[in-house]
Amino acid sequence: MGQLTTGALDPTLTVLLWSSFAALWAGLGALPRAAKVGLPVRALGWANAGASGLMLGVAYLLLAEGLRDGMGAGAVGALLGLASVHLTHLLTGTDDLDLNALDEVDSAYGYQVVLVNTVHAAYEGIAIGVALTISIPFGISMAVALALHNVPEGMILSEILGRRGVRPFHAASLAVAANLNQVLLAVVTFAVVGAAPALLPWALGFAVGALVQLVLAELLPESYRQAGHTSIAVVALLAMGLVVALGGVAP
Ligand SMILES: [Zn+2]
Repeated sequence: MGQLTTGALDPTLTVLLWSSFAALWAGLGALPRAAKVGLPVRALGWANAGASGLMLGVAYLLLAEGLRDGMGAGAVGALLGLASVHLTHLLTGTDDLDLNALDEVDSAYGYQVVLVNTVHAAYEGIAIGVALTISIPFGISMAVALALHNVPEGMILSEILGRRGVRPFHAASLAVAANLNQVLLAVVTFAVVGAAPALLPWALGFAVGALVQLVLAELLPESYRQAGHTSIAVVALLAMGLVVALGGVAP
């Protein structure tokens, strides 16, 4: 990784590469199903908790950066991020969708879950883009954290699609496809904030508000039922601590 961080790559190309890297990892989530490993429901809860913790770690580090640049704009940005997640749920009709209803028979359910994953990934693209405007190494460490977190999210999506008859390779492709707008939003955010640096605290706040709202409203609620409160809290906090510890070491 070292040579990529210091090379003379065009910055936009760097954003494109690292956000694509993050999106591709979602496909690895289909591996357990491809290997015919039956996952217990509890494992899906822990997968959710791990993904949540990694997102919270990214949100924490973005927040720490944002506090340096003006709290007011960051706070308003966070409220806008939170409202935006809520609004996209309302607009897509996925407000109270249970994202881990493995045996849901409604034919619309599979498409709704892919849609929710697609919208979810868009906000993470904003987080990657804004982190890369702060500094390329910081952005890369955030992209790596979100790449890792795409694996358990892809695993849950593959499990739901698999139980609906989708083959593992197709589920992997769908999981990556659902994350492709992560790439688009990362590049757009990087271009816009790079051109108008005054937007940085707003964009940081927006990403933090959106990430936290996604964790609290989408990922965690179902996981408590799958694996129990204590183990979910432990896994989420360990994953969060890992990102914060590694992010704190990065320049
Ligand atoms: Zn996520």
